[in-house]
Amino acid sequence: MTQTVFPFGGGADHSDPRQKDKAVVGGKGANLAEMAAIGLPVPPGFTIATEECVRYLADGGDFSAALRDAVSAALGHIERAVGKRFGDAADPLLVSVRSGARVSMPGMMDTVLNLGLNDATVLGLAATSGDARFAWDSYRRFIQMYADVVLGVDHGLFEEALEIAKEDKGFYADTEMEAEDWQALVDDYKAIVVAEHGAPFPQEPNEQLWGAIRAVFDSWDSDRARVYRRLNDIPGDWGTAVNVQAMVFGNMGDTSATGVAFTRDPSTGERAFYGEWLVNAQGEDVVAGIRTPQYLTRAAREAAGAKPASMEEAMPAAYAELARVFDLLERHYRDMQDIEFTVERGALWLLQTRSGKRTAKAALRMAVEMVGEGLIDERTALLRLDPMALDQLLHPTLDPVAPRDVLTTGLPASPGAASGRIMLDADTAEAWAARGEKVILVRVETSPEDIHGMHAARGILTARGGMTSHAAVVARGMGRPCVSGAQGVTIDLAARTLRIGGAALAEGDVITLDGAKGQVMAGEVRTIEPELAGDFGTVMEWADRHRRMRVRTNAETPADCRMARQFGAEGIGLCRTEHMFFDAARISAVRQMILAEDEAGRRAALAKLLPEQRADFRAIFEVMAGLPCTIRLLDPPLHEFLPTAEADFAELADATGYGIEHLRRRAQELHEFNPMLGHRGCRLGITYPEIYEMQARAIFEAACALIGAGAAAPVPEIMIPLVATRQELAILRALIDRVAAEVFAESGCEVEYIVGTMIELPRAALMAGEIAEEARFFSFGTNDLTQTTLGVSRDDAARFLGIYVDRGIFARDPFVSLDIDGVGQLVELAAERGRAARADLKLGICGEHGGDPASIAFCEAVGLDYVSASPYRVPIARLAAAQAALSASR
Ligand code: ADP
Ligand code: MG
Ligand code: MG
Repeated sequence: MTQTVFPFGGGADHSDPRQKDKAVVGGKGANLAEMAAIGLPVPPGFTIATEECVRYLADGGDFSAALRDAVSAALGHIERAVGKRFGDAADPLLVSVRSGARVSMPGMMDTVLNLGLNDATVLGLAATSGDARFAWDSYRRFIQMYADVVLGVDHGLFEEALEIAKEDKGFYADTEMEAEDWQALVDDYKAIVVAEHGAPFPQEPNEQLWGAIRAVFDSWDSDRARVYRRLNDIPGDWGTAVNVQAMVFGNMGDTSATGVAFTRDPSTGERAFYGEWLVNAQGEDVVAGIRTPQYLTRAAREAAGAKPASMEEAMPAAYAELARVFDLLERHYRDMQDIEFTVERGALWLLQTRSGKRTAKAALRMAVEMVGEGLIDERTALLRLDPMALDQLLHPTLDPVAPRDVLTTGLPASPGAASGRIMLDADTAEAWAARGEKVILVRVETSPEDIHGMHAARGILTARGGMTSHAAVVARGMGRPCVSGAQGVTIDLAARTLRIGGAALAEGDVITLDGAKGQVMAGEVRTIEPELAGDFGTVMEWADRHRRMRVRTNAETPADCRMARQFGAEGIGLCRTEHMFFDAARISAVRQMILAEDEAGRRAALAKLLPEQRADFRAIFEVMAGLPCTIRLLDPPLHEFLPTAEADFAELADATGYGIEHLRRRAQELHEFNPMLGHRGCRLGITYPEIYEMQARAIFEAACALIGAGAAAPVPEIMIPLVATRQELAILRALIDRVAAEVFAESGCEVEYIVGTMIELPRAALMAGEIAEEARFFSFGTNDLTQTTLGVSRDDAARFLGIYVDRGIFARDPFVSLDIDGVGQLVELAAERGRAARADLKLGICGEHGGDPASIAFCEAVGLDYVSASPYRVPIARLAAAQAALSASR
C-alpha cells in the first residue's frame, strides 16, 4: 500500500517527494509541506492524497479501514505537536478542514474552521485561552460553517439570526458582541440546525471530522466544480486532497489578525507588497466583504488616503516577519506568491502560499522584471506566460480624454475596460450574452455559484468586497475588468432596479467599468487602441528568438492584414477569396456569373469581377510588402451567393434581363443536399475553369502592377482547396501556369509564385505522397479536415458537442483544439509522406487550430514550417510557438 496520508509541520518528516507533488497531495497540501520543510511557521497538520478522493467516489462514498487508521495516526501527530488532544473537554485541539485540488479551483468545498468544538470543548477553550468571548465566537462560526458546507443549511439563516441578535442589543458591529451574546447565538444556531437539518448539530468531534472529509470529497463532483473544470479544461479524474490542520486564531483580540497578501501587485505587476488584513478576525472575514479590510503597508494606506492603521504601522514586528517571509518565498518559488496568514497573539503563522493569479499585464511586467533581477531566465519567463491571456492586452482600452459620466467609484479590482448592459444575476447575464449582448454582471458580492455569469459578462461590478474578494480574484483570473466594493451601489433584486451613486437605473441599462481606476460610468465610453511596445514588445522579442515555426495570419482585407502585421505576422497563411465576392458592390456580378446559362455568360460576368479582384490583391500585396501570401481560390458552394430575399431577385432580374421565375428555377437547380461535400472547392475549378482563370489572372496582374510601380515583389502562393486526388491538382496547376505565362507575356514582367493545396480531406492526407508531386506546399485546413475525419458538421455540432465534452468523450471541442489522436495522425502522416516525395515541401496549418496553443505544440512536434492564425491570435501563436520549441528542446 502506498502512503496516502502525509503529516506536515510540527517536526514531521518532509523528505518524501510525493508530499510536495501537487498531483499527489493537491496544490495547497504540497505548498504547506514545502513551507514547513524550509522552516516557515506552519501549523501542524496532514494531507489526505487526491487518490483517496478518486477511490471514495468510485467506491460509492465509502472510506477504507486503511484510510481511517492512517487519519487517526496523523491526528496523533498533530496532537503531539500541539500538546492538545482532539475532543479533550479541558484543553481541546481544534482543526481546520480544507479542500485542495491539483490546481486552485473555486467551486470546491469551503473551508471549515474550529472543528472539534462542542458544548463541552467550548468551555475548555474559554478556560485555556482565558477569553470566553473568543471561545463562543469560534463556536458560533464553526456551527455556521459546518452547517452550511457539510450539512447544506442555508448560511443566510445564520446571518439573519446574527442581525436580529445585534438589533436586539442595539449593536452595530459584530465586535460589540460579548461572550454571553455569542453563547445565546450558539443556542439559536443549534435550533436552526435542528429545524433545517432534522437532527441536532453533531457533537462528536470524530463524526464532525469525517463529515467534513466526506463533504470535501463530494464537492469534487458538485455542479460548481464541474462548470469550473469545463471552462478551464481540468480533467474530472484528478480528485481533490483534504488538508486537516491545527487551528491558529486570528480572533484572539487586538494582537491577533488575519490577512491575504501578494508579493507583487497582481494588477500592475509592480514589485511592491500588496494585500489586506483585519485585526481580530478569522479565516474568510477578509475576503467575505463583511468588514472592510485594511491596507498592509503604510505606503499603500497613504496612497489611498485611508485612516485605519496599516499592518506595517499597527503590528510592526509581525509585519517585519511577514516581509522576510515574502522575500524568502519569492526566492524559493521564483514566482510571485499569494499568501494567507494569521497572527495569533503576535505570532505569525502561514496558512497557504501559491503562485498568485495575475492580470496579463502584470504577468508580462513580472516576467520582464524577474528576468532583469536574475530571479528567472528568459526560457522560464516564456514558459510561465499563458499565451491566451495576451488577448486581454490586444484589445482597446478607454480613451483617457473621452468624457466620463462617473456614477461612483469602487476598488480597482481587475483592470481593463468594458461597456455593457447591467445584469443582476448570473443566469440572466448568461442568457443575454448567449444572444450576443454585451453584459456587465452587477452583484452585491459574487460567490462560486456566479462563475458562469462572470464568464459570460464583459465586466463585473460588486457593491461589497475588497481587492481579494471572490469577485476580484476570479475576475483577474478570467481577464475580466472588475470594480469591487462600490459602496454607491444598491440593488433591488425584486424590482430588477438599482441605484449607482445618484442615478436610478434598471437591468438592461448600459454602463462602463474602468477596472484600473475603479470607476463606474453611465453609458458607453469611447476606446483607444492597445499599447504593443514596452513589456509586451520585450516578451514578443524573446518569443521570436526562441521559436522555430513562422507565424502567419488568416486575413483577406487590407485592414486585417495591417493589424496582423502590427501583431507580428510574417505572411498570410490563408486569404479566403470568397469573402471578396460577398461585397455589396460585387455580389450582383457574382450572381450573374452563377446564374449564367453557359460559359460565355459566365465569362462576361467574370470580366466585371476581374478589375475588382485585381484591386483586392494589389491592396493586400502592398500591405504585406514582399512577404509570402497564400491565396485560396474560390471554395464555397456557389449557392451560398444566391439571393434569398424578394428584393434581391428583382434587382437581379433588372440587371440580367431574365424573369424572376427563371432566376428562381436556376437557383433551385443549384440546391444541394449536403453542400459541405458538394460542388465546391477544386470541383468548381474543374467544372468552371474560367472562375479560377479569372482569379489567377487577377493575382498575377496585381503582382506585376506592383512590381511595375517599384514596390516589393509579393510571393503569391496559390492554394487549391478540397483536393482529393493528384489529377485534380495537376489539371488546376496547369491552368494556373498557363494563365501566369499569358500574363507574364502580356506585361513583360515575371513574378515568382508557387502552387499548392489544402489538405482537408482524409484521402488527400493518405495520398499526400502522390499529391506532393504536384504541390509545392501543403496547408492543413484542419477545420474541414476535422469535419471530414470525424464526420461531424461544425455547424450542426452544437446540439451534442457540449455534452460530448462534458462526458469526456472529447477532451476538448475538436474544432477549438485539434483532435491530436485522430486528426493529428492524418496531419502527421501527410507531412511525412509529402516530405518523402518532395523534400522542400512547405508545410503549414491554416485552420482555427493555428491559434490554439495546444494545437501549436502539436504542429511543432510534427515539424510544420508555420502556423497561421487570425490577426488577434498572432501574438498568442508567437508565444505558443516559442513555448512549443522550448519544451521540445528540453
Ligand atoms: P481557500 O482555498 O478558499 O483559500 P483555505 O483552505 O485556504 O480556503 O481557507 C481559507 C482561510 O481559512 C485561510 O486563508 C485562513 O485564513 C483560514 N484557515 C484555514 N485553516 C486555518 C487554520 N488551521 N488556522 C487558522 N485559520 C485557518
Ligand atoms: Mg474558499
Ligand atoms: Mg486559501
